[in-house]
Amino acid sequence: MDKYLAERTKLVDASGIRKIWALAASLSNPIDFSIGQPDFDVPDRLKVIAQKAIAGGQNKYTLTAGDPLLCNRIAEHLKTEFGWNEPEVLVTSGVSGGLLLVFMALVNPGDEVIIPDPYFVIYKHVIAMLEGKSVFVDSYPDFELPTRRIAEAIGPKTKIIVINSPCNPTGRAYSPEQLQALARIAAENQILVLSDEIYDKFCYDRAHSSIAGYYDRTILLRGFSKSYGMPGWRLGYAAAQEPLKDIIEQMTKMQQYTFVCAPGPFQKAAIEALDYDISDLINSYRKKRDMIYAGLKDKFELVRPEGAFYAFLRAPGGSASQFVEKAISNNVLIIPGCVFSEKDTHFRISYATSDEKIEQGIEILRKLA
Ligand code: PMP
Repeated sequence: MDKYLAERTKLVDASGIRKIWALAASLSNPIDFSIGQPDFDVPDRLKVIAQKAIAGGQNKYTLTAGDPLLCNRIAEHLKTEFGWNEPEVLVTSGVSGGLLLVFMALVNPGDEVIIPDPYFVIYKHVIAMLEGKSVFVDSYPDFELPTRRIAEAIGPKTKIIVINSPCNPTGRAYSPEQLQALARIAAENQILVLSDEIYDKFCYDRAHSSIAGYYDRTILLRGFSKSYGMPGWRLGYAAAQEPLKDIIEQMTKMQQYTFVCAPGPFQKAAIEALDYDISDLINSYRKKRDMIYAGLKDKFELVRPEGAFYAFLRAPGGSASQFVEKAISNNVLIIPGCVFSEKDTHFRISYATSDEKIEQGIEILRKLA
């Protein structure tokens, strides 16, 4: 078979999260702390809009950039939030779709992309497929935005700094001061910042801060999967203002030949989702965060998560992979840190599950600690 395959296939490895998630199928009633998808469903009001759009025949291609009503509503939101002037918006097939398009539009072979480590898995694999180079900047042990180390990592080939706040897998949410410091560093070197804000609604201790408010060379990626329980609907968006509007236009061109458009009827529901209040859900997720932190902090080294729905804990005994094996044989699915990092010292819990499962999981992990 090898003779048929492109060399590109060897540049990436199958997702370590999916492997563990697939293991869940072989366990009876496991405590599944593995995959990062909300345990709540799409709000009924949004389902009805999608159902009506399908029943009413709105099943055709949308414009490549997205349903114009949705693009306009997103642009209005960004103008209000950041004071952006006429932003360019592209509706994507999830944030994952946006990530592929943005890296395809920007990364030449050999270009360097700076990424704080630990990081969300997709970045390094897409960059590898494009023969770019991920430059990882250690953010252990507190997982703050490592601005000084990022400044040191900048070289002549650096094109982009990727940040993700609130962060998967650490749960950290960067402060306005940290983001302003990064904006200054990026501006001095005229480097692009790609800000993955898929968890912008999942902030438990203070309002979400975005570097988009401080730096005009920011490409913003946001999504609908997590906030409205619709990861299977494949919706997200990319946006930028001048001087980066052309990047969004180039991504739109690439969408024509890849995804064509994001799913049409679901875009109708997304228009309504932008103004849909999910504060009750966020409050229930804050409670889950509190349970995890209170339940595990005395037994594990654990930085208090401030957002998203993850906790990143140091594995006892040093090897996360070994600890994960032990946890799985005790019916708890967690992900070894090496999936998100160049190190294998920590493990990730996704606490997007029922309070009952969280309690059971805490009890077992405490025994294993
Ligand atoms: N970015 C981050 C940080 C994520 O955690 C995820 C999903 N796990 C994505 C992007 C992609 O999400 P989607 O494609 O469903 O929008």
